[in-house]
Amino acid sequence: MFDAEITIIGAGVVGLAIAEKISQHNPQVFVVEKHSTFGQETSSRNSEVIHAGIYYVKNSLKAKLCVEGKNLLYHFCDRYELPYHRCGKLIVATTEEEITALEQVEQKALSNGVADLYWMTQEEVKAMEPNLFAVKALFSPSTGVIDSYWYLKRLETNSINNGVQFAYSSVVTGIEKLTEGYQIDLNDADGQPFSFTSKKVINAAGLESFNIASMVGVNDEDLTIHFCKGEYFRIQPPKHKLLNRLVYPVPSKDALGIHVTIDMGGGVKLGPDVQYLDTNEYDYTLTPSRRKVFFESTHRFLPFLEEEDLIPEMAGIRPKTQTKDGPPRDFYIREESMRGLPGFVNLIGMESPGLTASLAIGNYVERLLNGQNDR
Ligand SMILES: Cc1cc2nc3c(=O)[nH]c(=O)nc-3n(C[C@H](O)[C@H](O)[C@H](O)COP(=O)(O)OP(=O)(O)OC[C@H]3O[C@@H](n4cnc5c(N)ncnc54)[C@H](O)[C@@H]3O)c2cc1C
Repeated sequence: MFDAEITIIGAGVVGLAIAEKISQHNPQVFVVEKHSTFGQETSSRNSEVIHAGIYYVKNSLKAKLCVEGKNLLYHFCDRYELPYHRCGKLIVATTEEEITALEQVEQKALSNGVADLYWMTQEEVKAMEPNLFAVKALFSPSTGVIDSYWYLKRLETNSINNGVQFAYSSVVTGIEKLTEGYQIDLNDADGQPFSFTSKKVINAAGLESFNIASMVGVNDEDLTIHFCKGEYFRIQPPKHKLLNRLVYPVPSKDALGIHVTIDMGGGVKLGPDVQYLDTNEYDYTLTPSRRKVFFESTHRFLPFLEEEDLIPEMAGIRPKTQTKDGPPRDFYIREESMRGLPGFVNLIGMESPGLTASLAIGNYVERLLNGQNDR
């Protein structure tokens, strides 16, 4: 007999979405989270964009789970009356040369099954967003923004209603493979060591997911997490009223580029930038001196903007398996029977679009636990 049937490590959006899904069919699901409540790390430090699924490598998990997750998320928001805004997103070319890059974006989107993008002329862009400059743009109508707090709260509530038990303020310190199942060691809310057994374990520990996997001997170098910080600057009132939609430049090889994000409170921010941290430290400090970089990379499509309009807002850290100069990497989501770890599921490198894809990830992990793999 095990103390728990399934233990999920981490109550970010990924752990919560998995808990919400698998608790519909499994009794005795535990969630262990080191903070005193859910969503205190990457899941509350992001752009809150419901991505359309445009940019990812064809047939990747990111592409597939983003497109599937987007539709599930809009449906979930409607069902539970959660705040979201399907505002759409403009991807803008500011020179004739950039139009070629936009054409490639359209092709990539089509190959991922995102067939609703459409072209807009300079005049049409002006009519939609009078304060924006673009010689041409692609509009993505299925992109939106969500209030992630209420989404996570609903996932937690549904999970509790399904019988999930949450152990907050509990830090997993070790995992041992038993003849059957696993022993999980943690420091509980009083700082006391405590151990229990679980038949199955799901590692949804975000920035710590590689360290958790290492506890059971999964320590392949290419699964190492590289902390990659992204900072945001807010456009101060009253100029925030000059934009109503998400606006992205043409993407570079490695990044989407500093873009305009609108939040549910009506705030408008620029970001995130891309800063690989030399050591994996939780560095959420803001760098006011980066304001110039933010201004210079956006004022070509935001001609009304002056550097003084920008104030530092917040920072998040991406859990990347991609190295600084390496190629883009896919989500790593595996049931580890092949490594002699039956019932152990690792989710590593859950960067963007992890929020958008979360409900699809929940479904995917449930299929893995049932011995199905649809890839
Ligand atoms: C700057 C930025 C912008 C982004 N923008 C978007 C966006 O617009 N749209 C989108 O779809 N995605 C976006 N993302 C990605 C998205 O935020 C992540 O994919 C998602 O939040 C990952 O969720 P998670 O549950 O895996 O990780 P987390 O939210 O980090 O949760 C992991 C949890 O595990 C817990 N934990 C870790 N170690 C232990 C331990 N030893 N014991 C117990 N608990 C532990 C942590 O405390 C944490 O709560 C963005 C990410 C960043 C950084």
